[in-house]
Amino acid sequence: MVLGAPVRRLAAAAQRPAQAPIQAPIQDAGILRLSDDLFVVSIPGETNVVAQTGGGGVLLVDGGSARAAGALMRAVSTLPGGGPVHTIFNTHWHPEQTGSNELIGKAGQAIIAHENTRLWLTTDITWPWSGQRFTRLPKTAQPNKTFYGTGQLDSGVRYGYIPDAAHTDGDLYVHFPQQNVLAVGDAVSGQGWPVVDWATGGWIGGIVGGLQRLQTLANADTRIVPARGPVLGLADIKAQYEMYGAIYDRLTQLLNKGRGPGEAVIAQPTKEFDEKMGNPDEFVRRAFESLWAYLSPDA
Ligand SMILES: [Zn+2]
Repeated sequence: MVLGAPVRRLAAAAQRPAQAPIQAPIQDAGILRLSDDLFVVSIPGETNVVAQTGGGGVLLVDGGSARAAGALMRAVSTLPGGGPVHTIFNTHWHPEQTGSNELIGKAGQAIIAHENTRLWLTTDITWPWSGQRFTRLPKTAQPNKTFYGTGQLDSGVRYGYIPDAAHTDGDLYVHFPQQNVLAVGDAVSGQGWPVVDWATGGWIGGIVGGLQRLQTLANADTRIVPARGPVLGLADIKAQYEMYGAIYDRLTQLLNKGRGPGEAVIAQPTKEFDEKMGNPDEFVRRAFESLWAYLSPDA
């Protein structure tokens, strides 16, 4: 089995009313089985969660948003070999990943993150391009086990920093060598153009660097699980590396000519990819701004 098959996907989505309420109820989780003890849990509207079962408990990579935390805990408790969560990795600080931290932290369990992710979660953040505000997490919800380089759990699970700053400056991967699965959070986007969060360190050059680095951890059979979209393979990562490399080159040429983000959008640096990837304007603007932020952080 290469990509695994969904073992159940309840039909709740099909019954949604045409005019969905603003705060739709949490729908049932879809479960994709990667191996006997490893699953991708997808709650509609939430980012992917990787769950490893065994020993009466569950290890998670990312935890969905706060409003889905209860539904996620219920979903993972009913997995084969499932139970309460004993460990969660935060691949980065965004609320789509850290919404279960409070429940898990209150239960006294391990919340593992890169030290930069912990620091972001201890401070309020405002995105300059949208004005969106993020409030710091309470102490119990903050990561309680941080690292800088790499680490390994007694179970053999490995994890490490992605220092290229693909998405934020605290990105991590989690590697399940026995199952040949790599969970990569938003360092890789499996669905459309990514958010380039330059306010907390991410940049377009980091997307390229991260894609190159992750290739060294994978082989042709590795299942790579991004935060958004379907499970990917090494060929997908290589194709993305080529695409973002080309875009990075074009944006740096525009930067060197003294152009700005609006001019970058007009120059269509993603032209041949747009049909597949969707409207690029927001991405191009953020990616260009990220060059300014990365290359002259004090400007
Ligand atoms: Zn993110």
